[in-house]
Amino acid sequence: MNSYFNFENTYTYLPKCFFTLQDIEEVPSPDLVIFNDKLAKSLDINIPSNDKKELAKIFSGNFNNKNMNTFAQAYAGHQFGHFTNLGDGRALMLGEHLNKCGKRFDVQMKGSGVTPYSRQGDGKAALGPMLREYIISEAIHYLNIPTTRSLSVIKTGEDVFREKKLKGSILTRIASSHIRVGTFQYAAAQQDIKILKSLFDYTVDRHYSELKNSNEIFIEVLKEFSLKQINLITHWMRVGFIHGVMNTDNMTLSGETIDYGPCAFMNSYDPNTKFSSIDHMGRYCYKNQPIIAQWNIARFAETLLPLISSDLDEAIKKAEDVIKSIPETYKTCWLNMMRKKLGLVDKDNEDENIINSLLSWMEKNNADFTNTFIDLMNEENLDQSIYKSNDFKNWLEIYKKRKLSKNFSKSKSLKLMQENNPVIIPRNHIVENVLSSADEGDLKPLNKFLKILENPYDNNLKISNYYKTDIKSGEPYMTFCGT
Ligand code: AMP
Ligand code: MG
Repeated sequence: MNSYFNFENTYTYLPKCFFTLQDIEEVPSPDLVIFNDKLAKSLDINIPSNDKKELAKIFSGNFNNKNMNTFAQAYAGHQFGHFTNLGDGRALMLGEHLNKCGKRFDVQMKGSGVTPYSRQGDGKAALGPMLREYIISEAIHYLNIPTTRSLSVIKTGEDVFREKKLKGSILTRIASSHIRVGTFQYAAAQQDIKILKSLFDYTVDRHYSELKNSNEIFIEVLKEFSLKQINLITHWMRVGFIHGVMNTDNMTLSGETIDYGPCAFMNSYDPNTKFSSIDHMGRYCYKNQPIIAQWNIARFAETLLPLISSDLDEAIKKAEDVIKSIPETYKTCWLNMMRKKLGLVDKDNEDENIINSLLSWMEKNNADFTNTFIDLMNEENLDQSIYKSNDFKNWLEIYKKRKLSKNFSKSKSLKLMQENNPVIIPRNHIVENVLSSADEGDLKPLNKFLKILENPYDNNLKISNYYKTDIKSGEPYMTFCGT
């Protein structure tokens, strides 16, 4: 094992309450489904990528894994607004791998069996949800959005039981860490400032080392963390991604997207879009994502209060100033992002109106979020019937006038649009088709799809099926948490 990875598990130097050491259970009959060779190479993981049997053994834990210091992390979290003690209920950290430049990555196996944090769960995962995480996380990566990644999926040879019998699987996830807002909530709940401070220092070392000498380090980290989250959410909004389960345990201190359960991409533009079967109130719908991010950041800020100042009022005041500034910072980021989607190379006071009019037109006309921007980049596409209405023509005229004014440069404008408007997103119906083929043992559609998702901004791609929105089946698309 250690000849493939360069492991050093610093998380286990934290106070014992943060984790439980646990050996990985062997599985009956490991079978490799997919391995991300490119990712392994980019991380300097020297693994025999052609040896499927060896890969299956490694990523199922079927090797001599004793004394490897594998462990499950403890954390808490607000789930749909309610505080709960959680922890890795079906995951184990294989190790922290250091690449050749000394950059640290968590290598975590998800679906590897019960841990002390499993509560009522079986600790297992099924093939469909694990491949779904693989597909969407890789898509998000190639869309240039910070994310955890997927290194492999194996079938364990065991059945797992949900509504029906499913194929047991393990996903190996790579993350720049698994420290979550929920980890801080867990630390704060221990009511021991030393424990909290140890997690804080550890987090600074891993993600905020540039702030190490700052005078107001707690507030500076809070500010920087807020910016990372604002950046992340702005990206999600840019590509129409709906995470679906933005609980505080699913928000990382690194600013990476994590936990691909009920997430999906929006088709027709509707700010209330949600896909998750358990999100009855639409708490995590598209338009709420920035608001929930602020709510989660406030939960993080609360955990830091005892560190910020021994005077609680002063600590609250300082933290509140950061939290209150979030909506305005987000708005600026969102406006700039939307300007880029529209190829506006500079700023004008009218931009917000122009953007909002387009969005309301899209909402009224059920226009596809992704394809509308593709069509705006390719004027010949504006011949389609949806664009024939006077409403749209009026908007287009105003937009064109605005675009051509000021510092217009055709090439700059087009480049901005091409870099910010994906041509390919993982459309829900294609994801489902690919998963159902994979479940039947046919991996060709999966591999083909993953290849296509590697170039989401390639305007020369003319693969019409991948542009199409879902074929209307009458039933709204629904996703389920990846259990
Ligand atoms: P998630 O919805 O994936 O963020 O999971 C929320 C919590 O439930 C985490 O603590 C998971 O480890 C735990 N969990 C999810 N599925 C299972 C399972 N099958 N067995 C045990 N714990 C689980
Ligand atoms: Mg989670």
